[in-house]
Amino acid sequence: MNERVQAHRIVVVGGGAGGLELVTRLGDKLGKRGRAHVTLVDRSPTHIWKPLLHEVAAGSMDPNTHQLEYAAQASWHHFEFQQGEMTGVDRERKTVAVGACFDADGVELLPARELPYDTLVLAIGSVTHFFGVPGAAEHAIALDTTAQAERFRRRLVSACVRAQNGLGRSHEDGRPRVDIAIIGGGATGVELSAELRNTAQVLNAYGLHRLDPRRDVHISVIEAGPRLLPALSERVSSETAKLLRKLDVNVLVGERVTEVTGEAVLTASGKRVEADLTVWAAGITAPPVLRTLGLPVSKQGAILVDASLRSEGDPDIFAFGDCASAPWPEKQTTVPPRAQAAHQQASFLLRALQDRLAGRPLPAFHFKDLGSLVSLGHFDAVGSLMGGLIGGSMFIEGMLARLMYASLYRMHVSALHGPLRMMVDTVAHWLRSKTSPRVKLH
Ligand SMILES: Cc1cc2nc3c(=O)[nH]c(=O)nc-3n(C[C@H](O)[C@H](O)[C@H](O)COP(=O)(O)OP(=O)(O)OC[C@H]3O[C@@H](n4cnc5c(N)ncnc54)[C@H](O)[C@@H]3O)c2cc1C
Repeated sequence: MNERVQAHRIVVVGGGAGGLELVTRLGDKLGKRGRAHVTLVDRSPTHIWKPLLHEVAAGSMDPNTHQLEYAAQASWHHFEFQQGEMTGVDRERKTVAVGACFDADGVELLPARELPYDTLVLAIGSVTHFFGVPGAAEHAIALDTTAQAERFRRRLVSACVRAQNGLGRSHEDGRPRVDIAIIGGGATGVELSAELRNTAQVLNAYGLHRLDPRRDVHISVIEAGPRLLPALSERVSSETAKLLRKLDVNVLVGERVTEVTGEAVLTASGKRVEADLTVWAAGITAPPVLRTLGLPVSKQGAILVDASLRSEGDPDIFAFGDCASAPWPEKQTTVPPRAQAAHQQASFLLRALQDRLAGRPLPAFHFKDLGSLVSLGHFDAVGSLMGGLIGGSMFIEGMLARLMYASLYRMHVSALHGPLRMMVDTVAHWLRSKTSPRVKLH
């Protein structure tokens, strides 16, 4: 029997903000020395950090230059990559069922498989929740994947080009117009609205001169709650609303969406918001497959885990990131679904899984809320820094907030490649930006 088969088998499903950091570091720590056989399963062949998706949707980021090939990362960091979607887990036989993979023409590339594990870690993130609103799933675009963000960008560019050429909607005086509705005034909706204003300006500079970027591109953010950014402080919320209004973004609060059609968004108060394009950024839920595993789950279907991020129903299964409901005892709630939580939990599990292999008791995870930042694209950023960094909560905005926001992504890149390659990557992207269009057109 070869050494690899005898090594403890750790299978991590989901190579996102948390999962890819975890397998990279487990591979370096355990896989390299043969102390464990580490496998990553992801439905996609490439990784992109999910908080960048609104920039991909607005065209201000080309996903091809920011995505990472899992197969290459696996070879650099001593883990195995298996592409395919997890469709189930046989907990008796300790195997993960992975679906077949197909190429763009529908030709099968990889058959359905079963992967054995000794320790299984679930990190499959979340999916958009449409709350059963009629027409939402059909007519609104969600931002769960790069493919969805790219689809939105293509439709956005098409709508603007059509309007420029008199083929779209027009004002009463005949001027062209493009209407974009964003449902959900959380961080994703707010950040996307600012990015889109920038995109409209760039498209105008790139030749769509008939389309006035402020007057003719109408951007509405529709929030059901009484204010934008309900999860953040009143101050961050009110400053953000002011900044968005300065960007001529139409902010509607207290408006519950009741229907989405191909042309408009309708609300409970009877408002009709015209929309050539609609984005749904109003909530997330757990991926449905998690309910099929026979493990205890929360109301939203996330895996209930204990203080060590271990499933309450199976000692060999761990879960973290958006797909887990992890206790946050200090606040008597659960850890929020954020990239910074997934990042901290990945670092925690790196230690905890080594303890498990060594037969030591598992430590407890403590989430440190470092604050929340909202980027308004090239225009501004606002947010609050919390606890661990400054011993309290502090409102920040402007250049400092923009730098702190950018540093979140840099921390992720550093966890994947180390600090030196992160710096080289930062410089490379800056140089590339000097010769690339500011909005991806094709
Ligand atoms: C537009 C946008 C902006 C955001 N901005 C911020 C921000 O500024 N700050 C912040 O802290 N958070 C932000 N978030 C939230 C943040 O992205 C998530 O909390 C974070 O990505 C969760 O990490 P994760 O590892 O749990 O899941 P993800 O990063 O979503 O990764 C899940 C992975 O699992 C894979 N997968 C899914 N299902 C399966 C399956 N069945 N089988 C195999 N693979 C599967 C996916 O392909 C993906 O690679 C934002 C989210 C969005 C959408």
